[in-house]
Amino acid sequence: MAYKLSARSLSRLQGVHPDLVRVVKRAIKISSIDFTVLEGLRTIERQRELKRTGATTTLRSRHLTGHAVDLAPIVDGKVSWDWAHYYVLEKAIKQAAKDEGVELDWGGDWPKFPDGPHWQLPWASYPA
Ligand SMILES: [Zn+2]
Repeated sequence: MAYKLSARSLSRLQGVHPDLVRVVKRAIKISSIDFTVLEGLRTIERQRELKRTGATTTLRSRHLTGHAVDLAPIVDGKVSWDWAHYYVLEKAIKQAAKDEGVELDWGGDWPKFPDGPHWQLPWASYPA
């Protein structure tokens, strides 16, 4: 079954690096699980607020420059926070990145503070 990005997901891809957008658009076509774009480009004001509340540890986020997106699986019409669903989504995103020839890092692979929804273009190949 092929899913489609919602209008809200598409609007949240505005200002995001075109390579990352390509991966997300390919992923939705091949994914066995539906997903939504939670967040793309982020303002520094919002980043400061996230740091203040402890939701993030850094002000040096790739969201600030459009080099990161947060994606969440949709299960039974709702955003899922279950890692089992993130691993299903991981396969689709990694495959799409490979197909598009785009290097992509998954927050779920981080040993410290794993971040399941977070995907970013690497600093090394995509300096801000
Ligand atoms: Zn993120």
